[in-house]
Amino acid sequence: SVSIDLEACGRTFAGGHTALHPLDLNIAAGETLVLLGPSGCGKTTTLRLISGLERPDPNGRVRFDQRDVTPLPIEKRKVGMVFQSYALFPNMNVAANIAYGLRIQRLPATEIQQRIDAVMAMTDLKGFGERRIDELSGGQKQRVALARAIAVRPRVLLFDEPLAALDAKLRDRLRIEIARLLKELGITAVYVTHDQSEAMALGDRIAVMHQGRIAQLGTPQEIYHRPASTFVADFIGAVNRLPVLAAGAAGRLVVHGGELHSPHLRGKRTLYCRPEDIHVVALDAAAIRGRVVESVFLGQSQRLLVDTGSDAPLQVDTGSRRQWRAGEAIGLAIPPEVLFHPEQQ
Ligand code: ADP
Ligand code: MG
Repeated sequence: SVSIDLEACGRTFAGGHTALHPLDLNIAAGETLVLLGPSGCGKTTTLRLISGLERPDPNGRVRFDQRDVTPLPIEKRKVGMVFQSYALFPNMNVAANIAYGLRIQRLPATEIQQRIDAVMAMTDLKGFGERRIDELSGGQKQRVALARAIAVRPRVLLFDEPLAALDAKLRDRLRIEIARLLKELGITAVYVTHDQSEAMALGDRIAVMHQGRIAQLGTPQEIYHRPASTFVADFIGAVNRLPVLAAGAAGRLVVHGGELHSPHLRGKRTLYCRPEDIHVVALDAAAIRGRVVESVFLGQSQRLLVDTGSDAPLQVDTGSRRQWRAGEAIGLAIPPEVLFHPEQQ
């Protein structure tokens, strides 16, 4: 596996639309980097620059292990790609699809067979070699696409929303399998998705993209717990906004519904926290009080919307099985350490 460096890589298309502002990005050998962001933010363009399907604007450089590969086309970069659309040959069986790249490399037949067997075992496709592609489920097709990509022993694996077309349960299972496989192979991988839970489950690091720029680059924990901007905070899960109304007694801050203790964020005009970090407590012990507007049962938890007099209700996730009626008074507590304030608003 190789390290990848993008240097001042931008891409402006004919007509002047800038899909990607010049960006620098270093991906370590063996790392899985996830590009996460809403549709149109430049994820696929970034991936295509790495693959060689697309060239950066002048001055942009792509390096694999320090070596400049910018002029090299995709077939010279030894990358494997997996797409949402599978891109399999429907008229060939599973084994022939996997063998395709190996035949192009003119490997000996015995070697080809060994590699087919090995990657089919890795991707849980044992016994499917003779199956036609159109006899497979979506999940099986994506396993074949993955097997085909790794059979050629690429230096880098690139994924463009590979699970986006699959149903939720299958998506959860396959992303665990892909994470395991990437660790097993120790290969450098770049994985594009707009799904935040996929990004967090798969990425060693996540680059959150927004309008052709990297809004934040960090570990899943950093991105989730210390978002650099309100865009990142909102994109990665739900977030509550608590406007500070005034300074309270003993260094406390007055917010809608009560007071907060937050010594490390003194002076900020808005504080933020995640729904799961607000605790439901007894009314008489509550720092913040409000009324339940709505409760949504989510299975493993329920999300309460609590009106505290602010313009948006607080979102509160609780594992409690108690059922709340609309209008009921509720007490809340927010520990100081869960409050955050992004650098950029
Ligand atoms: P994402 O994969 O994050 O959805 P893309 O990288 O595909 O985003 O696209 C980023 C932006 O560049 C979008 O506004 C898209 O319409 C535009 N774009 C992508 N490819 C082309 C192209 N070949 N020609 C013109 N505009 C393009
Ligand atoms: Mg895309």
